[in-house]
Order: sequence, then structure tokens, then C-alpha cells
Amino acid sequence: MKIGILGNGQLGQMLQTSIVDQPELEISLYDTRNYCEQSLQQFLADNDRISYETENIPAHIVAQLEPVEAKVFPGLNALKVFQNRLLEKNALRNAGIDTADFHAVNSLEDVHEAIQTLGLPIVMKTTTEGYDGKGQFVLKTAADAEPAWQTIGGRELIAEAFVPLQREVSVIGCRSESGEIKVWPMTENIHHEGILRYSLYPAHGFSAEKQSIAERYIAQLANSLDYVGTITLELFETEDNLIANEVAPRVHNSGHWSIEGAETSQFRNHMLAISGQVLGNTASKFPAVAMINVIGTEEETADAAGMPETYVHSYGKEARPARKLGHVTLTADSSEQRDDKITQLKRLIPAGVWKP
Ligand code: AMP
Repeated sequence: MKIGILGNGQLGQMLQTSIVDQPELEISLYDTRNYCEQSLQQFLADNDRISYETENIPAHIVAQLEPVEAKVFPGLNALKVFQNRLLEKNALRNAGIDTADFHAVNSLEDVHEAIQTLGLPIVMKTTTEGYDGKGQFVLKTAADAEPAWQTIGGRELIAEAFVPLQREVSVIGCRSESGEIKVWPMTENIHHEGILRYSLYPAHGFSAEKQSIAERYIAQLANSLDYVGTITLELFETEDNLIANEVAPRVHNSGHWSIEGAETSQFRNHMLAISGQVLGNTASKFPAVAMINVIGTEEETADAAGMPETYVHSYGKEARPARKLGHVTLTADSSEQRDDKITQLKRLIPAGVWKP
């Protein structure tokens, strides 16, 4: 079977390498940045199945996927829904998943209406193309309405009630063609300036009750869309609940630990799902695991190179401020040992962001 993946970044590459032991699957990656209509048509015709490494696919490429919709996994319905925060929130609600209250905003009047309906503070976001905290504005008082609209308005926005979150966690699942669902153990995710810096399994003091809510959410979500492949749900943890924030219809940075840490990685199960195979076990192989992103410069990974049970992944990208250049995964016999190991690698994490 020939599988074509749109996107040749680190996610596409990790998808490809996850399944090299199955030579009957021929995987190729398409660089969407060097798009031309003819080469894409050829790519779509050449492959039996098409997948994608990111939901940020330009509309002119999505349009070309329409005629070959039957071989696109996850389906175009999921892709389109999760490209737009309003459609995404509605899909989450329809699947019975709690989200922040929200209000569609298309004008300055709508901003005032959102303040009336939702109260303050409000997080206002562009409905499309915003990621890693870009295209957002937090409104604290009614006087913020105009500057907010001036800064990110003039296009479709969503206003969300501010969630009093304690921390952020994510749940990643995979659904096969036959509807079987496997869920990875959850991680606690620590961001800085809108970018994921590290993920921890297990999350410190995460209750079994919340774990089961998250597992129920991801199953409801995947089933509601007849989804095939790996899917990620990012959640805000509040004192007594989990509130869905965002969905990625793909493998996710917070699941990179699964390459060494889980029986079957998020990448491999995605490839198994989209090629119509039975999924592998998603259990963790270790009592504790951490994944630390390498951002901006790779020099600090020297610290990790000699450490036992530590795995350095370099994406082969040119260094640039705020750019994800690789990640380091470490496994441990306990959460305490894991946290000790991270402390030895804390040069990888901005000052004050690592809080054991
Ligand atoms: P997003 O691009 O939706 O992932 O948002 C980026 C970050 O902004 C999140 O990781 C949160 O820390 C924060 N944030 C987004 N939406 C909300 C909200 N409704 N309430 C509180 N914090 C939020």
C-alpha cells in the first residue's frame, strides 16, 4: 500500500520512520511549501491513502483533496472542523465535551455583546491559523474591546470565557477503521510564551476520575466524527473538571514521549490506523517519562547526550529563535527520579519554567 503524507516536517518524518519495519507500506512525504498543482495531483494519484501532518493546510490544497476524499485519513470532515475554532467548539459540544462558553465575533459590536454574554475576562482568538498563542487578545475590561478588535479583528474571531485553569493536560487517542480506540496515558504540559516546553507522564497528582473523563472525551470525539488515525485533545484542568480547549487531528508534540516510552507510539498507531490495521498497545513501558522540547538552539542537548535512558531527537532544522529543533525524551523508575533527571537538563528550559 502506498501512503502519502502532506507535509515533510518533523511530524511527517516521525510518522514515516515509525513503520519502517513494514516494507509493504511505501511512505512518501509531500512538501506543501513547494506546492504546485501538477505535482500535488500526481502525488494524490500515486498514493492509495493520503494523510497529513498538520491541520494548517491552505485552502487551495484542501480543495484538491475533495475529489479524492475517500482515501484521505483522517477524513476531510475532521480536517475542516479542526481548522476553525468555532466549528471545533461546536463539534466538541456536540460530542458531549465541556468547553469554555464562547461567542462568535465578526464586528466591534459583537465584542461588546460577547462581554455582556460571557462576562470578563475574555480570551479572544482568530478562528483560523492561530497556534502557539498567536492571534490572541485577553480582554480584562470593557475598555479593551476596541484595542482587541483593532489588533486581531477585521476577520472572524471567537470570544471565549476565561477558564480558571490550574494547568494544561492533553489526551491522545487513536481510532482504527473498525472503530477500535486506544488511548495513551495522559501528560501534563508546560508552556512558555505560547510554546510547549515539556510534557510529563504521569501528571503530578492527576486523579483517576479526571483520567477517565479524558478517556471518555477522546472516545466520544473520535466516534462522533467516525475518525481514523491519531487525535489529540488539549484540556484545561480546573479544580473539579476538565475543559476542552483545542483539538489537533494528528499526532501531537505532547505525545512524542511515546516513541521510546510507550509500547506503541502515537506515530505508529496512526500509520496502522490509516492503513487499515489493528492498533498496538498504548501503555507506558516505564513508571515515569518526560519529553523536553529543544527550542532556539541545540547546544544544550550536550547535557542529555551522556545521560542514561535519555534520547535526543534532532529534526535537522536550522536554528532560529522560538523554533522547535528537536526534543529529548527520558524515562525513569519513578516520578521523583524523572524530576531529578529533568533538573540536570534544566538548561533546556527557560529560567523559572521548570518547577519540580
Ligand atoms: P490556544 O492557542 O487556544 O492553545 O491558547 C494558547 C494559551 O492561551 C493556552 O495554552 C492557555 O494557556 C491560554 N488560553 C487559551 N484560551 C483560554 C481560555 N479560554 N481561558 C484561559 N486561558 C486560555
